Amino acid sequence: MSSAFGIEEIQGQERALVFLKKYSSQPELLPPLLIFHGPEGTGKESAVERFIRHVLCIEGTSCGHCVSCRAFMHHSHPDIVWFPLEKNKQIPIGKEDNPE
Ligand SMILES: [Zn+2]
Repeated sequence: MSSAFGIEEIQGQERALVFLKKYSSQPELLPPLLIFHGPEGTGKESAVERFIRHVLCIEGTSCGHCVSCRAFMHHSHPDIVWFPLEKNKQIPIGKEDNPE
């Protein structure tokens, strides 16, 4: 089943999608941490939301109807901690002049 919020809706980023699709179909391979890094406006936040919802969906489809999807949509899923809580506040990683 496909949904308008599914991982298949992510546009571009073919290289990143290879990994996201692999991890969504084989969650046992999912590393404990994924960092989505890149320029503004490249769809990182959108991709993260779609990927997380897909992985957590009980049906494995981002169905939008299961308990997990509903909790995700209401920002009350117990397995998701959004940080920083202030949107657009960045957390530096690495050196300030070269965060990569
Ligand atoms: Zn679901």
